[in-house]
Amino acid sequence: MGNCCCHEKQPRRHPLQKNIGHNSGVDGKLAHILETNPRSHVDIIRTRPTPTRTNVPRCNKIVVALYNYMARDVSDVSFKKGDRMEVLDDSDGDWWTVTHLLSKETGLIPGNFVAKEQSVESEDWFFEEVSRKEADKLLLAAENPRGTFLVRPSEHNPQGYSLSVKDWEEMREYHVKHYKIKPLDNGGFYISTNKTFLTLTELVQAYSKNAFGLCHVLSKPCPKPQPQMWDLGPGVRDNWEIPRIQIKLVKKLGRGNFGEVYYGKWKDLTVAVKTLREGTMSTAAFLQEAAIMKKLRHKQLVALYAVCSKEEPIYIVQEYMCKGSLLDFLRKDEGRTLGFEDLIYIAFQVASGMEYLESKQLIHRDLAARNVLIGENMMAKICDFGLARVIEDNEYCPKQGSRFPVKWTAPEAIVYGRFSIKSDVWSYGILLMELFTFGQVPYPGMHGREVIEQVEKGYRMPKPTSHQLPDDIYKTMISCWDGKPENRPTFEFLTHYFEGFNVTSEIPYREVPD
Ligand code: ADP
Repeated sequence: MGNCCCHEKQPRRHPLQKNIGHNSGVDGKLAHILETNPRSHVDIIRTRPTPTRTNVPRCNKIVVALYNYMARDVSDVSFKKGDRMEVLDDSDGDWWTVTHLLSKETGLIPGNFVAKEQSVESEDWFFEEVSRKEADKLLLAAENPRGTFLVRPSEHNPQGYSLSVKDWEEMREYHVKHYKIKPLDNGGFYISTNKTFLTLTELVQAYSKNAFGLCHVLSKPCPKPQPQMWDLGPGVRDNWEIPRIQIKLVKKLGRGNFGEVYYGKWKDLTVAVKTLREGTMSTAAFLQEAAIMKKLRHKQLVALYAVCSKEEPIYIVQEYMCKGSLLDFLRKDEGRTLGFEDLIYIAFQVASGMEYLESKQLIHRDLAARNVLIGENMMAKICDFGLARVIEDNEYCPKQGSRFPVKWTAPEAIVYGRFSIKSDVWSYGILLMELFTFGQVPYPGMHGREVIEQVEKGYRMPKPTSHQLPDDIYKTMISCWDGKPENRPTFEFLTHYFEGFNVTSEIPYREVPD
């Protein structure tokens, strides 16, 4: 625990940067080179040198491990939570060169698994990248007792933090209370003005001994989920064309439109492997798109780890999402019992992933509940972004055909092939209807052609009577289906709308009275 205020670095970042990794964003130059020579990515990205003990500048920073990590390559170093390491080079955002202070091994480690020793980020209770909604989800896990807590940067006050605490009350059962931690002008923090502290650590220590008016004394830090990995390992981060022999297909998970999907292994790591039937798409076009997909980083987009494209069928190696597609999930036991808060949380996450694509001026073209995957803690991630552009299956192209997703597609995209982020907003409105009806097929009882004709005439799906859907959310769906694309909301708006949606069981953001 870092008690010394001079060591305690208070992290700052722009709220909009919170989900974006160091190498985020589409590299325009790379995308351009790939356009002219789709296969060239392998040569371009292999040129990055692997740091060695002799050529790295020392930066003399001691870091402490926040999680366990098992080496995946010859170039990386294993460590356990709490181990200390000296950083020799952290100039690469993802993989840092360190010397392990116990084993004396030198090699690469994932930079987001460690934090500077005695910094606030090294505290078990400090969660740098969680939103209020995620904090609720993490704290409400059944195994956490009353008083489980975390501290996170405030989403609204760039200098402030929030303390989120799990509480229990007779009438409301388990729920989470959020307290503002305000900064003092001359440094330091307070929740209540009559109790000020020099550091967040001191504040947490004090409220761990005495509730001082909080709903409950702070009992235990919330368990931290492992951070997202964007590569399989340092050796394959750039050379992400991997030999097929390294992939073990363990169990078939499902059948997609373009091939089968497997639960698989790369070394000891669990992955999902999408196999693409021969002729589904040209390898060159796919690799071009995959290079862009590989550059996109957002926690609401499924991470693309690697590909095997030397022979058919092409394998796409992705992050594994244990609960499968949102559509199947909603229709099965666990999904059918989801509470309203969970539905709002999923709507928020999908909007947030789409907001990221919107900010990169990319479009999905096939946004639907079947293309959202669910993982632990109700984590929702969009998949198949980018793939729609390279599919060579006539039936799936906007030319009419049995598998063209007419019910999800905006009229201007169906009629004129005008796909845009605004046609994605239309699809998002349909996805919302799927979500709030627990996976009902949109426009029940209507055929594709009828839908096209009726929607053109101004027909819109009515508010379902069978499920509780607040009028306001239905109005938002209708706004997504505005005939004029420019009148539809942005994903930025939709993210904030669902982020701030006041579920009745929630109490407003509270402060402890003075
Ligand atoms: P397609 O887009 O080609 O139709 P999908 O991506 O929908 O194929 O995959 C089919 C099924 O495989 C999904 O419904 C889901 O159950 C499973 N699946 C796909 N990707 C993953 C993944 N990354 N993790 C876990 N399951 C997945």
